[in-house]
This record gives sequence, structure tokens and C-alpha cells, in this order.
Amino acid sequence: MIVVRLKPLAEICPMVAHHHRVLVVGCNTCAAVSLAGGEKEVETLVAALSLASSAKHETAQFEGDVVQRQCEPEFLEDLDASGYDAILSMGCGAGVAFIAENCQLPVYPALDTMFIGVSKGFGSWQAECSACGSCVLGETAGICPITRCAKGIMNGPCGGVQDGVCELGDRDCAWVLIHDRLAAQGRDKACSIGDPKDNAAKTLCPEWDMNKGHGESR
Ligand code: SF4
Ligand code: SF4
Repeated sequence: MIVVRLKPLAEICPMVAHHHRVLVVGCNTCAAVSLAGGEKEVETLVAALSLASSAKHETAQFEGDVVQRQCEPEFLEDLDASGYDAILSMGCGAGVAFIAENCQLPVYPALDTMFIGVSKGFGSWQAECSACGSCVLGETAGICPITRCAKGIMNGPCGGVQDGVCELGDRDCAWVLIHDRLAAQGRDKACSIGDPKDNAAKTLCPEWDMNKGHGESR
């Protein structure tokens, strides 16, 4: 899932301060599971923005709505933004971008999009993928060096590792984990580890159409 988190109110308020009627739109898929953009979070943000507005003697109105997924056209069809002069999206960056592409109003992000990750318990997620467009997990025992190594290097561990911990001190060294898991699986270091990452897939392929195939997606 895509993991998102709410921006601070101090960052959100100025974005919408000059608008009169703002529709706060949640997303009932990844953002809801992230506990950042579902129905409850929309209600809470609408209440917080309304309070902040009245505290400043402003007249801005905030109302909420939630769509199932902001990144799919069929669900955006349900969104009725008539009468509003701005939208505050509580979806990931793709949701913000897709609403902006499909309506004439200014659209603002209420969330920060963090990473593609997995749940590690209630309210806790681990980054697993940065959507690089050219996956090497088959060679790295399922641990992504782009995402989980602080430097995103392809030939770790670097000289900063200490007893299996990254020099940043906030994580296990991804490359120690990779080598340990490969060894536990009885596998040698994969042949392409150490080669620079080919970022062409990411830079050349901002769109992907499964009906057209590789190299014809634009
Ligand atoms: S190698 Fe690329 S696609 Fe694979 S998990 Fe890492 S970032 Fe995601
Ligand atoms: S110590 Fe390991 S995780 Fe940290 S930057 Fe170096 S190789 Fe990457």
C-alpha cells in the first residue's frame, strides 16, 4: 500500500486560507488504511480547519467527502465539487494529481506521501519499495536496497556499517540483511548486485499501459 501521513495544520491552513468554500476529500483505500485520509480523518480535519478559521474570524467553510479511490476515474465520477472554490485532497500524491487533472478547481495536498510499504502493526509501516521501475528484489532476497539502504547503493554494505546497523543509527543495514538472507537461503551474492541501478525505466516510462506492452507506453 501507499503510506501517507497528515501534514501539520500549520502547513495546510495557509494553502487554503484565501478560499471561501473548500471540499476536503478523503480516499477510502491506502489513505484510510494509513489512518490519514479515511472518513474519520476527513471529519477531524474539517473540524480542525473550521475551528482555525473561526478563531481568526474568517468565514471560510469546510465540508468533507470521501471517495473509494482518488486514483481511478470511476470513483472520481462520484465526486461533486460544484459550489466549492478549492479541493483539499486527503489522498496520496497520485490522488491529488488525478483530481487536479479532472476538475477545474485548485487542488491542494493535505497529506505527505511517504512510500510503498507494509503494515508492521497498528499505526506502524515499513518502507519496502520506491517504485523505481526496474525491480531487483529477486536478487536481493526480497529486501529493496533503493528503499531500505540509506544511500540507495547497489554494492553495500558501505563503510559506515557498525555491527549490522546503518551509520544513520536508525535502521539495520539493508545490505547486511540482504547478505544474511541470501546466505540463509543458500544463495550466493547475485550477479548484478554491484552494478549501478538502471534508472531508465523510471525516467523514460512515466506512464504504463498494459495493453501496449514494454517500450510503447507513452
Ligand atoms: S527495486 Fe525498485 S521496484 Fe523493486 S522494491 Fe526496490 S524500488 Fe521497488
Ligand atoms: S550502512 Fe548499510 S544501510 Fe546504511 S548507508 Fe551503508 S550500506 Fe546503506
